[in-house]
Amino acid sequence: MILGIDIGGSFTDMLLYDGKNFFIHSTVPTSMENVKNEIEKIPDVDSIGIAIAAWLKEGKIMHAPNLPFKEFDLKLDVPYIMENDANCFAYAVSKIFNEKNLVGITVGTGIGMGIVIDGKIYHGMGLAGEIGHTFIGGDEPCVCGGKGHLECYFSGWSIRKRHGKEAKELFEKNKFPYDENFEIFCRALANVTLLFDPSIIAIGGRIGGRLSKEKLHKIYDFLPSQFQPEIKVIKDDYMVAKGACYMAEEMKNKL
Ligand SMILES: [Zn+2]
Repeated sequence: MILGIDIGGSFTDMLLYDGKNFFIHSTVPTSMENVKNEIEKIPDVDSIGIAIAAWLKEGKIMHAPNLPFKEFDLKLDVPYIMENDANCFAYAVSKIFNEKNLVGITVGTGIGMGIVIDGKIYHGMGLAGEIGHTFIGGDEPCVCGGKGHLECYFSGWSIRKRHGKEAKELFEKNKFPYDENFEIFCRALANVTLLFDPSIIAIGGRIGGRLSKEKLHKIYDFLPSQFQPEIKVIKDDYMVAKGACYMAEEMKNKL
């Protein structure tokens, strides 16, 4: 059995995969202790895929502004692979929809982006796709230490800061703000489309997966008509963990 773990800024999801089907195991608030405890509860795991909301280079965490712990000190006695969460998301979308060129955007506490080119994740020097920390303007402080980044305008943490409420509550009350900050997000995705010309822009995560597809069509307003990516809202909260499972399976097959 393969275990896929999605360590997000607020919650950690665990999913089991037998090579055919996925089985939901648990969702716990993110902490190193919770992750360790949950792993211990699962017997017969032969490999683990860990998706994490962090900047990674060669499997090492370089920076993790949205995670509540500083040290990643998980000791595992089975083979594991660790990958950026948005990369796992994009990879799962690529596998499930059989598309080779796409971008996957996750909106939760922060914003992540995974780029799949010819069926493979594009890493650049390791950190490719950090759209959440691209400069938009202004001097609002960002969680990464910078200023005026996309996340300052549109992300779980900035929505909480601006509205005094969690995005989840705003969705439940039908009051999610499709305002000028949402438009900034759409403009950023149009820019991404012009750079990569993907067949799909897949949007997921606890906020992204609840956005209105119709409202997201705003992206097309900022694009020349020759660019027509399909906008897909992925409502599956386990897509990141699924990507981690696929990666662990491939790692295991190569061993
Ligand atoms: Zn930033």
